[in-house]
Amino acid sequence: MADKQKSPWTLLSVNPHVNLTVSEIESGLSFDTRLTVRVRLNSDYPDSVLACMLWMAGRYVFNGMEELDTFRDDFENHPSQRWQGIIDQWPLVFGPTETALKKLFASAKPAVKRPPWSKCPRCGAAIFGCVEGMTDIEEIERLLKNTPAPYWCRSCGQRFKFTGNWLSCTDEFTVEETIESIKHVFPTQQPSFDTLQIEAGEEHDD
Ligand SMILES: [Zn+2]
Repeated sequence: MADKQKSPWTLLSVNPHVNLTVSEIESGLSFDTRLTVRVRLNSDYPDSVLACMLWMAGRYVFNGMEELDTFRDDFENHPSQRWQGIIDQWPLVFGPTETALKKLFASAKPAVKRPPWSKCPRCGAAIFGCVEGMTDIEEIERLLKNTPAPYWCRSCGQRFKFTGNWLSCTDEFTVEETIESIKHVFPTQQPSFDTLQIEAGEEHDD
């Protein structure tokens, strides 16, 4: 079977929290805490594994920049070939290997809620970048076209379940839920400046 065309490289990054040492604080310097991995969004392995490792590293609190720098040198050095060694080397960050592997290779799960509001069942990230009541219709259209088939969560690497070409989601598409969704896509019209002026004028005449 021919491989599907791979998407271009995407950089994912996190800035984990670092408890700076006294001398680091006293230096008054600002430190680069960013950790980065390079992935292809439409490739399953090892890309979703690397995204998951980045998520786990992003939730670990590093003790000083030395620990972070040492970790970064290891983590960013060809992780797609070395990821298992990195996991074994850093139980502080990833926990015991067996537990880490369960996270990295968690089974594909349906998204929470229907598109465009779908969220990752593990970390709650908005899969299409659309936020209910916040994202307007043109933006929703653009975001959905950009991410027609999200194979895994960009935030935590959780793989999503598909039924054929369709993203599976936990919601049943009830009439009530559809009405609720439409309300968010077309927010209630705010009174325009003209309307406000007319209303103010009328009040003044009374
Ligand atoms: Zn996630």
